[in-house]
Amino acid sequence: MKKLLVGLVVGLLMMVGAVSAQQQADIAMLSDGQLHVVMCGTGSPLADATRASSCVAVVAGGEVVLIDVGPGSWRQVAVNRIPTAAVSAVLLTHFHSDHIGDLGEAVTQTWLGGRAKPLEVFGPPGVEKIVAGFAQAFSQDVEYRIAHHTEAMLPRAAAVAVAREVKLKNDAEAAVVFDRNGLKVTAFKVEHDPVKPAYGYRLDYKGRSVVISGDTAKSANLAKHAAGADLLIHDVLAKDVMIMAAANAERSGDKRRAKLVRDILTYHASPTEAAEIANEAKVETLVFTHMVPPLNPPVTEQMFLRGVADIFKGKVVLAKDGMRFDLTAKN
Ligand SMILES: [Zn+2]
Ligand SMILES: [Zn+2]
Repeated sequence: MKKLLVGLVVGLLMMVGAVSAQQQADIAMLSDGQLHVVMCGTGSPLADATRASSCVAVVAGGEVVLIDVGPGSWRQVAVNRIPTAAVSAVLLTHFHSDHIGDLGEAVTQTWLGGRAKPLEVFGPPGVEKIVAGFAQAFSQDVEYRIAHHTEAMLPRAAAVAVAREVKLKNDAEAAVVFDRNGLKVTAFKVEHDPVKPAYGYRLDYKGRSVVISGDTAKSANLAKHAAGADLLIHDVLAKDVMIMAAANAERSGDKRRAKLVRDILTYHASPTEAAEIANEAKVETLVFTHMVPPLNPPVTEQMFLRGVADIFKGKVVLAKDGMRFDLTAKN
């Protein structure tokens, strides 16, 4: 009996420790002068037990920016110890469900975490509709939490997000989204028709840079705006495999599935197309994300790397949730 009690107490202490550790954000990231990039969702819209949908967290100069917040990604933000109370902006590349599904969770959880100001959500025209829709869906949750914890703990003014529409002057030029605390964010057009406009983002901090493609077919405009970046995070679709999948579906009489599979071929880049863009832009490291089909089992990883090293001589990375890059300032 005594042994059982001791075991229970030890178990409880371990659980308490685990809860505190999980809530302990890596706040050193905020002020160590580095540009931190954490992959918080590297999957696609297709079901994947090991990867959340699109999300990249960038931490630099006290700014914490989430680029897309796909389903399941909030959990990855939290478990990878991103300082959630300091989340200062969300950048949406476009409004496909696999890029916006966790927006309500991101707004709510940063508020619970202690975010003191409304959360700015930047995106292409139409972002107001997205922000307003999530606000409506989560409005009752806000009331429950204020009633339960009091407004002194959870200020109502901070419960909301504010939409910030980013307009491009034309298809070729980038627009500055914001430039604060040394972190400069720019948006530019990528190719994801019929999703128009769809944006890629570039984040520059102290001579280091990361470019996030969003979803795009091979895009010369992306290559232009990714010039010289340290990291290019690019969506990839294994086209040869998807063409085979479409043919299989057709053979088995599933015309609907065959059409859906063929449709998506037109608006994503293949790994070798992304490699060509990386070459054109002369980036240091190419990071593959948003892999379609999902990389289960791991043998499928080879599909994404075949032929890529022949084209791009830099480092090539297949992103995983939780992967982190720390780029020390150069100036
Ligand atoms: Zn998309
Ligand atoms: Zn997508």
